[in-house]
Amino acid sequence: MKQRKPLVAGNWKMNGDTVFNDHLLGELRAGIERESMAALGIVVCPPYPYLAQVANRLAGSPIEWGAQNVCERPNGAFTGEVSASMLVDLGCRWVIVGHSERRQSMHETDDDVCAKLAIAAAHGLGVIACIGETLDERESGRTESVLGRQVDALARAAHDAQRGGDCAAPMPAERFVLAYEPVWAIGTGRSASAEIAQQAHAFIRSRLGALDGGGQATRILYGGSVKPGNARSLFAMPDVDGGLIGGAALIAEDFLAICGAAAACSSASTAR
Ligand code: PEP
Repeated sequence: MKQRKPLVAGNWKMNGDTVFNDHLLGELRAGIERESMAALGIVVCPPYPYLAQVANRLAGSPIEWGAQNVCERPNGAFTGEVSASMLVDLGCRWVIVGHSERRQSMHETDDDVCAKLAIAAAHGLGVIACIGETLDERESGRTESVLGRQVDALARAAHDAQRGGDCAAPMPAERFVLAYEPVWAIGTGRSASAEIAQQAHAFIRSRLGALDGGGQATRILYGGSVKPGNARSLFAMPDVDGGLIGGAALIAEDFLAICGAAAACSSASTAR
């Protein structure tokens, strides 16, 4: 039985405008309230300029919101960057770090991603940390060595934060979330099968033993071409605790259906 509350997070990437967002958020709010998905955590992550709009539009809603990135420095002369304290000032609850698009196009390293995790945790932000192998790495048999390297680095940083580290208060186990996103599945329409996802998630969990709850408390989301048609089979896997959703997060009907699939898997496992 899954002991972890599933989480579905929408990564809007560099999409949206005020009119589009207003419509999407209105539909999401209405849908979530209609279906009453209390057993599920839901987060949307818009681009920075729209955080305040999303905060206003979701006030009083069970849907939380987060940023897609954070600067690893506290403040100062870093033109174009946004600090953890600014996010907290706006009421932000979550931040995505280490998305493969940033690892690839902005050349973010494991050290950069861990520094972002540390500063986010120090400010009380929940962290959704992304990991995943490229197609080349999978095809050359390096999936576990790549995932192992990424998880070990993040687990060390999360462990420090859970012990207090630079944090005002230790990071609770449920505020550190991993997202397994095979790079070859992101935005390609080619999702990992439920079995491949489960295999990777079980491996990832096996590396989390030093964390609070021995890794059993850490939610591991699957991301990469999750759609209404494949969400249920992915989320039914024992180590898949929800999803990080890209393209389908921009379509209210699809995102709501994916949330519904996560909620259904959670109540099915609770009922067993
Ligand atoms: C993502 O970018 O995190 C993602 C999972 O994208 P998509 O769902 O579009 O594959």
